Amino acid sequence: MGAGEYNPLENAQEQFDGVAEIIGLDEATRQLLREPMREYHFLIPVKMDDGSTQVFKGFRVQHNDAKGPAKGGIRFHPEETADTVRALAMWMTWKCAVVDIPLGGGKGGIICDPRNLSENEQERLCRGWVRAVAKDVGPFVDVPAPDVMSSAKHMLWMLDEYETIHGGRYPGFITGKPVGMGGSLGRTEATGYGAIYTLREALKEENVDPATTSASFQGFGNVAQYAARLYLELGGKVIAVSSWDHADKKAYTFRNANGIDIEKLIEATDTFGSVDKDKARELGCEILDENAWLEQDVDILIPSALENQITAKNVDKISSQVKFIVEGANGPTTPDADVAIKERGIFMIPDFLANAGGVTCSYFEQVQSNTNYFWEKDEVLEKLDTKMTAAFKAVYELSKRNNLYMRDAAYVISINRVAQAVKMRGWA
Ligand code: GLU
Repeated sequence: MGAGEYNPLENAQEQFDGVAEIIGLDEATRQLLREPMREYHFLIPVKMDDGSTQVFKGFRVQHNDAKGPAKGGIRFHPEETADTVRALAMWMTWKCAVVDIPLGGGKGGIICDPRNLSENEQERLCRGWVRAVAKDVGPFVDVPAPDVMSSAKHMLWMLDEYETIHGGRYPGFITGKPVGMGGSLGRTEATGYGAIYTLREALKEENVDPATTSASFQGFGNVAQYAARLYLELGGKVIAVSSWDHADKKAYTFRNANGIDIEKLIEATDTFGSVDKDKARELGCEILDENAWLEQDVDILIPSALENQITAKNVDKISSQVKFIVEGANGPTTPDADVAIKERGIFMIPDFLANAGGVTCSYFEQVQSNTNYFWEKDEVLEKLDTKMTAAFKAVYELSKRNNLYMRDAAYVISINRVAQAVKMRGWA
């Protein structure tokens, strides 16, 4: 998905190879970590409401489970590819390692567009995905979760199918479930909030008062919405957000130089993150083209949509005012653009650190589900903040000590942790 000529798996491997070299990783561990250990590709036949049968393609990729069961979401997207899922599984391994939770990395996907499927068709598709991999996933093997265009209701259908097949109650099989049905309070907020916890720490380290800053977001789905809310609480101003328009099949940027009323914009947004243009105009937003979010004179850019969005082609359009990039999405910056960002001295909070709040809260959800004891929201968010802040600090300190770019510092920490687990198990 994303910009056509970039392959996310090649990007992920290029990032890995660079850091493997810096830390002098041995050959066997390199071989083991630069591609997935296991993967499943399958077809899912689904009875459609009109009586026809449509066949969808599904994936589950387990990149590495040396530190614990594989963990990662399932994406629903018409442009999903096997290599995208592989790259995302790999990034999940580094993500779980950087926040130091006892989980490995996995990812799943279905090539589909849920916006064109009825509720019943979506349910049959979810159940079909689980039937295809029911024996290869599970609370102690591989634990799925929501991702792009999948949500709590999909997770519950998937859990129900898994429990029907295995004949018992296994709430730790999947995370991102609805609250009251095994879900954790705070899970919906977790990814966006987690990103802003890391931004808050970065601003503190750089002696910048959040109340003097402005930001522009790409994407206005779950991650961006909660990140924007918490960023406003810190005193910041959101100048622009872009969002995908399903009807027009293109994205637009919504800009209000005086600051967007985020609560009202959320009210004008559907469950897939598409903003109603008329309502946005009523909120005083100008409607600009899809790339405008990147070109704004703001202090902070928060790409929170898909991979391969900041590339060699548009990186020069980033305003000289931009001092921080917080990657809410997975893989939004291509390696060639990353070089330019590093040279400009922009403070990068890399994806697998910035958006690790979701999986960290998923880990808390698993713990709660497995013990059948659920925590208060404040307790969840406090634990999340502690984990994210500690992870940020470890990466920041290493980057200062060894003069490393933040992405490289995060990789050094994660790869070392996973390599050590691989060694201790005697795999390499
Ligand atoms: N899909 C989210 C991610 O990319 C969450 C994964 C999870 O909770 O397992 O981090």
